[in-house]
Amino acid sequence: MMKNVNAEIISVGSELLLGQIANTNAQWLSKRLADLGINVFFHHTVGDNFNRLEDVMKLADKRSDLVIVTGGLGPTDDDLTREVAAVVLDKTITTDEEVLRKVEQYFTKNNLRMSENNRKQAHVFSGAKVFYNTEGMAPGMFTSHGQTGWVFLPGVPREMKSLMSTQVLPFLTAHYQLNQKIISKVLKFIGIGESLLEDELSDIIRAQTNPTVAPLAGEGEVTLRLTAKATTEAIGLEMINEVESKILERVGAYCYGADEDSIEYKVFELLREKNMTLSSAESLTGGRFIERIISIPGASSIIPGSIVCYQEESKINVLQIPRKLIQDYGTISKQCASQMATNVLDIMKSTIGISFTGNAGPNAAENKPVGTVFIGIKRDAEEPIIHEYQFKGNRDTIRNRSVKKGFELLYNYLKN
Ligand code: ATP
Ligand code: MG
Repeated sequence: MMKNVNAEIISVGSELLLGQIANTNAQWLSKRLADLGINVFFHHTVGDNFNRLEDVMKLADKRSDLVIVTGGLGPTDDDLTREVAAVVLDKTITTDEEVLRKVEQYFTKNNLRMSENNRKQAHVFSGAKVFYNTEGMAPGMFTSHGQTGWVFLPGVPREMKSLMSTQVLPFLTAHYQLNQKIISKVLKFIGIGESLLEDELSDIIRAQTNPTVAPLAGEGEVTLRLTAKATTEAIGLEMINEVESKILERVGAYCYGADEDSIEYKVFELLREKNMTLSSAESLTGGRFIERIISIPGASSIIPGSIVCYQEESKINVLQIPRKLIQDYGTISKQCASQMATNVLDIMKSTIGISFTGNAGPNAAENKPVGTVFIGIKRDAEEPIIHEYQFKGNRDTIRNRSVKKGFELLYNYLKN
C-alpha cells in the first residue's frame, strides 16, 4: 500500500482576490493531482503581499506533504514568491546560468534592453530541481524542506500546464512512488431534491470512505460523485460498481444517466428510438428549451421546428390561439398552455408538442405571482397533459427551471 500524499495548492496573485481572473490554475492542478492519487486538502489564494504569503507558506509547510505554488515568479516587484519562500524554507537564491542565458538571448533577439529586474527570472533555490520552461521565461522548481516537497510554477496558465504535464507530474510520480489510481463516476438524478436524495442514502453516504459518495446540487438536478482510490483501474471500477448498485436499488427510478449524459440527450435518444418528433411553443423560455436539443448533432431528424411566441399577439397570430381563450383565461393559464401544445403540434406536424407559458418576473402579471409556470405536453390525438409549477428564484433561474422541468416531464413520459 502506498503512502498517502496530502497536498495543498497556493495560488499567488492579488488579481485573483480582486475577482479579476478566476483561479483556473488551482482547478486544473487539483484534477491532475487527483489523477495521480494525491489528496488535495487545501486551496489557498493569497495576494502579492510578503507577510500574508509568508503566513500561508508556513502553515502549508507544517501540515502538507506536498505544496504547489503558482504565480509571482515573474520579473516585477510585486512578484514575491521566491523571496518569501527563501525565508520560509531557509533557502539561498542563486542564478541558473542556463535560464539567464535564455532570458538574455530573448532580449538580444528582440532588440530590447534588458532591465535588471529580468535577471530575477533566472533566480532559483540552490539545490532545487529546475524544470525548464519552453513556453516562457521563469522556470519551475522542486525543493524539499523537512518532510515537505515544494513545487513552484509560473502563474501564466499555458506555462504552468506545459511544465506540469511534461515534467512535474512525471517527477512527482517517481519521487513519491505513486501507483494509485482515482476512479470516479457521476450519477445524475432528476425529479428528486438534494435533501430527499441525501435522506434516502444517508447511511451509505456516511459509511463510505472509499469510494466516497458526495452529493452536488445543480439547477433542477442532483448529482452524486462516487470516487474510488485503488491500485488499478479495474479494482477501482469494481468498487464503484458495488456502491452504485446499492444506490440505484434505492433511488434508481430518479437516475437518468452518468458522467457526460445530459437530460436533453436522454430525451433526444428516446425520441429517436421511438421515431418521434418534437416541437415546442415557448413563451417565457424564449426558445431555450428547443435550443438545448438543437445543440445535439442529429437534432434535425427529430425537430421539425418550434415557435417562440412571447407577446399575446404572436400567440394569437402565429400560434393561432383563439383570442377568446386568452380573454377568458389569460396567457398564463392551463387552458393557454394546453392550446399552445396542441397548436404547435398541428402547425409543425410533430408527434409531440410541448408548451411553456408563465411569469418569470420581475413583476406579477395577469394576477399570477412571479414563478407561476404552466408546461403542457400533447401527443398525437391524446388529451394534453398540463402541469403547473411555482418556481422560486430570479428571472433566469425560473426560466432555467422551466426548461429543466420540461425535459424531466418528457423524459418520464417517454420512458414509460
Ligand atoms: P509572469 O512572469 O508573467 O509575471 P508569474 O509567475 O509572476 O508570471 P503572475 O504574475 O502571478 O505569474 O501571473 C501571470 C498571469 O497569469 C496573470 O496575469 C494571470 O493572467 C495568470 N494567472 C496567474 N495565476 C493564475 C491562476 N491561479 N489561475 C489563472 N490564471 C492565473
Ligand atoms: Mg508576474
